[in-house]
Amino acid sequence: MKTIWLIIKILVVSLLLVSIAITGTVIIYKTNLEKTNTNGTNLVELDNKIINNNTLASEYVARDLVVELPGDNVHIIEEEIDWKILLVNDENPLPSNFKIELAKINGGAKEFDARAIGDLTKLMQDMKAAGVSNIWVQSAYRTPEYQDNLYNNKVQDFIVMGKSQEDAEKLASKWVNKSETSEHNLGLAVDFNNVKRDFENTREFKWLVENAENYGFILRYKREKQTITKVNYEPWHWRYVGLEHAKKMNELDMCLEEYVEYLKNLNK
Ligand SMILES: [Zn+2]
Repeated sequence: MKTIWLIIKILVVSLLLVSIAITGTVIIYKTNLEKTNTNGTNLVELDNKIINNNTLASEYVARDLVVELPGDNVHIIEEEIDWKILLVNDENPLPSNFKIELAKINGGAKEFDARAIGDLTKLMQDMKAAGVSNIWVQSAYRTPEYQDNLYNNKVQDFIVMGKSQEDAEKLASKWVNKSETSEHNLGLAVDFNNVKRDFENTREFKWLVENAENYGFILRYKREKQTITKVNYEPWHWRYVGLEHAKKMNELDMCLEEYVEYLKNLNK
């Protein structure tokens, strides 16, 4: 029994001694560290570490930037190429990051994408100069909220005509796109004159069919493409896609849905 007590006592004392020794070492180490910190060399070392850490941090930032920049550049390049043929329809709403810089058409209240307004202005000037002067912009850029109102009003029109809510929505979407699914929300579409079918019988329409591509505009909802666009024929609605795309689309006789698909396959 005595031996066991002795062993326990020795163990306790040993533990105490070890603890004291460890604490002592830490205190001595800390004091030394503080001393070396104030004596220069180690501080420089520490500084270097800090500098290195900062450098590392900035390298990471730089690398991040490098990683992001090409991405951003590609994005910007893509935007520069693709904003003109951005497909917006029932199945393709505006991208969530969609931003637009607008410019006033002829200084009036109606607005259009600032990047394309020059071509729109030129188109209308040249039309008038060619003696085809009965042309005006009825509708151009619309805010998504305004688009919503138009759509809801159209739905109501059909409900008043005795259609069910579901049928009214289906019918309305053939005439007015829901919010954020209209090219008018994109700022690249323009409705001319009275927004009526008989616009197709005017000299203005004929001039547009012959010349609009030279200004980057296409007839967006053609009669023979209704099954693809899922929008009724609209002779008044013209979409800016830029001169090259407009010419190519007319040459290939493709609507934007077909053309975007065609380009995708080309790039495969
Ligand atoms: Zn329109």
